[in-house]
Amino acid sequence: MHRRDFIQQLSAGLLLGATSTKGLAANLGKSQGLPRVIVVGGGFGGLTVAKYLRVFSQNKIEILLIDPSPSFISSPMSNLIFSNQFQLNQLTFSRQTLVQKYGLQLIQSMVTRIDPEQQQVHLPTGEKLNYDRLVLSPGVAFQFDDYSNISDKKNGTGIVHAMQAGPQTLQLKKSIEAMKDGGVFAITIPMAPYRCPPSPYERACQVGIYFKKYQPKSKILILDANPDITSKSQLFKKVWANYFPQMIEYRNNHTLMDVDLSDQRLLFEVQDDIKADVLNVIPPMRAGDIAHQSGLTNINKRWCGINFLTFESTAIQKIHILGDATQGGDLMPKSAQIAYGQGKACAQAITQLLFNTELNHQPHYNNLCYSFMTESTAAHIQTDHLYDANLKTMKVIPGSQELSSTPTEDEYAKGLLWAKDMWKDILS
Ligand SMILES: Cc1cc2nc3c(=O)[nH]c(=O)nc-3n(C[C@H](O)[C@H](O)[C@H](O)COP(=O)(O)OP(=O)(O)OC[C@H]3O[C@@H](n4cnc5c(N)ncnc54)[C@H](O)[C@@H]3O)c2cc1C
Repeated sequence: MHRRDFIQQLSAGLLLGATSTKGLAANLGKSQGLPRVIVVGGGFGGLTVAKYLRVFSQNKIEILLIDPSPSFISSPMSNLIFSNQFQLNQLTFSRQTLVQKYGLQLIQSMVTRIDPEQQQVHLPTGEKLNYDRLVLSPGVAFQFDDYSNISDKKNGTGIVHAMQAGPQTLQLKKSIEAMKDGGVFAITIPMAPYRCPPSPYERACQVGIYFKKYQPKSKILILDANPDITSKSQLFKKVWANYFPQMIEYRNNHTLMDVDLSDQRLLFEVQDDIKADVLNVIPPMRAGDIAHQSGLTNINKRWCGINFLTFESTAIQKIHILGDATQGGDLMPKSAQIAYGQGKACAQAITQLLFNTELNHQPHYNNLCYSFMTESTAAHIQTDHLYDANLKTMKVIPGSQELSSTPTEDEYAKGLLWAKDMWKDILS
């Protein structure tokens, strides 16, 4: 880079990789006359939209990316931690390469409030940052409110869901490993929609792999509120019957009403209580707190309604939302692959809106999801989604649906490659 370019970029804040200091972020870029987009959430959706806003605008949009976590932890592949095929540190990545390569400003903080009138977000320090457009990709929050035995309704202290890779994943792994051989590990699954539909069933397989090696008399009980397995149903049933006989038991229509942690007991709407040695309670979910508190969860008070062309909230203007927090289109799961596709499409739409160019009226992205079912085999499901102008939603392209006929070693390798390619693209 030439020295002059370096100085120009530095003054425009483009080389600031590190966490901004107070006051700095508020002033940079704006003084250069660049439109500013603030991205809240440095997960799958947020990293993608931040990168591609810079790419599509040829660096003519200033990006502040805000996330409290010091690093990015991938939930995809985190179930493989239970079978010792992955360690958490292999799923933990720095955001610095992305930040430096694309000239993002990363602020390590929560956003505590959004003021749509002033077009500002508030940080816990009291700092207020202006935006021209705001993007939220805050993921999900967990709803503990219905469990009367759980006193901490906000954090659900005591409940281990492990549906955000990190400390809870390790806590659950430790409890499973500490369980006596012959014990029962119970997973409860809420009524869909929830984050990554096949992941609880995949988890049962991964824990099963561990049990087969180290605790062969132990049992896995899946207690599902849904009438059937919500993804890859026949494949999971076949693998459980053939590969984990007598070990994995699936029970449908089990709606969890409460949890008694003092007695390791699950209380259901209809069926008798069930006691288990290790509980993995996956509560119902909704859009992340910042979206909920800001009045953006206008679908069933849980999910954010969006214009599928622009990702702009149907509740508040100039706020765009993507990823798990949104009410998806037809057959659209809450997945990293969808958050990634939406991140790119959203970046394109915001660039077009900010520079008054014609909108893409045919956004298109896909879902591709691998589930790891044994130590060496996996299976996938895929759908392509296209905007339907009449219905104003995303619809599955007829004929695009794919489902593996059986889990294979080849798909296991492809699943690993999917994750590596995804991490590479969103992090560098
Ligand atoms: C066990 C498991 C396995 C999975 N496997 C797969 C898979 O194989 N394939 C697949 O496609 N998907 C998979 N998923 C789903 C995938 O992880 C999610 O769909 C994806 O992470 C959604 O991206 P997102 O950007 O919406 O949210 P996230 O990736 O969760 O990112 C949200 C970010 O927002 C930040 N944030 C929240 N609130 C604030 C705030 N107020 N201020 C600042 N920052 C905030 C959080 O810190 C977080 O970093 C899996 C999930 C789990 C739990």
